[in-house]
Amino acid sequence: MNSDWETNLEQRRQERRTRRQQRCQARRRTLTGLGAFAVLVMLTTIFVRFGPALPALNLANATPPVPAEILCNDQPVVKLASYAEAKDVIEQVIAHFTTGQEKEGRLVEFKVINDVAIREGDSGGLPLSTPEAAYESLISLKQEPVIYEVQQGDVLSAIAENQRIPMMEIIESNPGLDPDKLQIGQTLKLVKPVYHITIESKFEIDAEEAIPFGVEEVYDPQLGWGKTETRREGQPGKRKATYILTKANCEVVNQELTAETAIEEPVARLVARGDRYIVASRGPGQFSWPVPSRKVSSPFGSRWGGTHHGVDFYAGIGTPIAATAAGVVTFAGWNGLYGKEVIISHGNGLESVYAHLNTILVGPGQRVEQGENIGRSGATGRVTGPHLHFEIKVAGSHRDPLELLR
Ligand SMILES: [Zn+2]
Repeated sequence: MNSDWETNLEQRRQERRTRRQQRCQARRRTLTGLGAFAVLVMLTTIFVRFGPALPALNLANATPPVPAEILCNDQPVVKLASYAEAKDVIEQVIAHFTTGQEKEGRLVEFKVINDVAIREGDSGGLPLSTPEAAYESLISLKQEPVIYEVQQGDVLSAIAENQRIPMMEIIESNPGLDPDKLQIGQTLKLVKPVYHITIESKFEIDAEEAIPFGVEEVYDPQLGWGKTETRREGQPGKRKATYILTKANCEVVNQELTAETAIEEPVARLVARGDRYIVASRGPGQFSWPVPSRKVSSPFGSRWGGTHHGVDFYAGIGTPIAATAAGVVTFAGWNGLYGKEVIISHGNGLESVYAHLNTILVGPGQRVEQGENIGRSGATGRVTGPHLHFEIKVAGSHRDPLELLR
């Protein structure tokens, strides 16, 4: 009988022989290779699952992880204990801004707009954050100075309105600024709430909503001069609409109608008027500018092989829109590619149209004065960016508004 020691030695020799044979066979038999790969995957899985439980594999104690900083637009904003922690925090911030915001909406896509990076190491200027504190900080607004360049046609009140900063604060953060003497290209320091990470997300939303009714006017010579009579009450319709909502973090920056199905058509209110329409082409001075800045982004006339029935004015989201002349609102609501729209009848066959609004502040049948704030500009309907589409119609045909506004 061999001793245990001899048995072991013989066993090891046998094992080595077997392994040599296996290596040679492996070169010829690729299928065996695949099998071995499967075993390797299984072993790796077992290692990953159970490895950290073994005291000998506790690498965290052996070499502490290098701290990592999250950089937004090349500026370190928070420091975490490790790269893995930093990555996890960014993923949580993205999840925060892309889920649970619109209960009925479906997330279609999202992208991180600004530069966000993780850098291992320590720039020395930041205290170490817990992942919870870092997450809280990145999902909150911070008062940060932002540089704004004055554009042609800018006035301080409009900048304040568009940037949503009180005018006094702009004056305070720019010592020596003369609000009446802004120059193109001049830079202003605006302290405004901003996020370190900006995530643009698109949500698809279904809505069942009312279709506002318009007003139809008919001429009835039987009625006395200046008299009006409602011949039929208006009735709102109903429709199913699908919107794509674009959000920058929590704020809706665009809303686009992508599909609509009328369930019930609206019935216009029918008003008879005793006074005859006098179709007149009014001279300049009758119409005032609908936007504070008079910058035209697209003129009236031929455009892209078609006809542009109005003029487009540059207007950031939220810019107050004014009625060009006194009149009666005949339409206020969603109108397909025009988005949220207001139509005002000024009498004598004159009408003005304000499209792509973000907010409508008037209703059908309402009387408005010249210069009255009827809504706020936006980017609803078919647009490439926020602006005001403005039309003037004379007896049903479009005229170049700039000829009448000048
Ligand atoms: Zn237009």
